[in-house]
Amino acid sequence: MPTPLDLGGNVVDLLRALIDIESVSGDEQLITDQVERALRGYPHLEVIRDGNVVIARTNLSRADRVVIAGHLDTVPIAANVPSWVTGDGAEQIVWGRGSCDMKGGVAVQLSVAAALVEPRRDVTWIFYDNEEVEESRNGLSRIAREHPDYLEAGFAVLCEPTNAGIEGGCQGTMRLMVELTGVAAHSARSWKGHNAIHDAGAVLQLLAQHQPTEVEVDGLLYREGLNAVGITGGIAGNVIPDRCEIEVNYRFAPDKSPAQAEAHLRHLFAGFDVRVTDVAAGARPGLDQPVAAEFLAAVGGQPSAKFGWTDVARFAALGVPAVNFGPGDPNKAHADDEFCPAADVYSCRDALLRWLG
Ligand SMILES: [Zn+2]
Repeated sequence: MPTPLDLGGNVVDLLRALIDIESVSGDEQLITDQVERALRGYPHLEVIRDGNVVIARTNLSRADRVVIAGHLDTVPIAANVPSWVTGDGAEQIVWGRGSCDMKGGVAVQLSVAAALVEPRRDVTWIFYDNEEVEESRNGLSRIAREHPDYLEAGFAVLCEPTNAGIEGGCQGTMRLMVELTGVAAHSARSWKGHNAIHDAGAVLQLLAQHQPTEVEVDGLLYREGLNAVGITGGIAGNVIPDRCEIEVNYRFAPDKSPAQAEAHLRHLFAGFDVRVTDVAAGARPGLDQPVAAEFLAAVGGQPSAKFGWTDVARFAALGVPAVNFGPGDPNKAHADDEFCPAADVYSCRDALLRWLG
């Protein structure tokens, strides 16, 4: 058992301690035990352990409640644990797996959860497992299914890396297959067949010429993307292929439901066989809500749109507006040279204290 986490000490030291507990997806038992144990030291928090999810909440009967969530798992280590630091003072940088995605955010959560004995609004702090792997293992979606009451709130913040700015909502994502069918034949007598791979040209041209739309939702500008991400076809060097499949990924702005996104693509690919294989709804930024406006005021700066898909969409599905807000550059998530500036960690901590204190 490593030394207990010190939630009342320096938040950057806490970040380093969290990085030093390896927690690749599927292996979160130890870090979850440590987080639970540390939170149980604070009598102002009701602590619930459910699998490798820890929920800590205040019960002060405040007029509103917010959820602040973060995942405990990381992608696999790349010779970047234990943590190390470079620079000092305002220039200090913390390096290591999870520094950016997203133990910086988790350190902020734990530090503020411990410090805020009487927050202005009730807070539900959530720490969950298996975010970096397939949806069916995701700890937050399990809680949403089994205990939606734990996630009840007027607003949610997900402490994923955003360079300590607010990124609202998230885009949806859809994958589909465009299936082309021909007639197989020996390539020595190709006129007897019909080449399905050649038909792919029309689909690829459509994609190459497609202009991605920019869509404004609740004041934030989202930029869509429609791209071929895979292509398969052909069975042998002397056979005219009778099948070709093009996999397409559509990243759509959160003004569209999955059904509207699908209708848009079916219209675009009219005349082709199209099969949707995977879809995840986006989430509106919800920045028009009063509680969000107070959050914006406490954090300062200009909110921007989140282009990737994140777990904020799970909150949106429960009717809870949600934003991303956390330390670290999202472009460094999953990178071998993953790092987090200490200044981001301090500024996120200060902003949450201003908002909730
Ligand atoms: Zn993450």
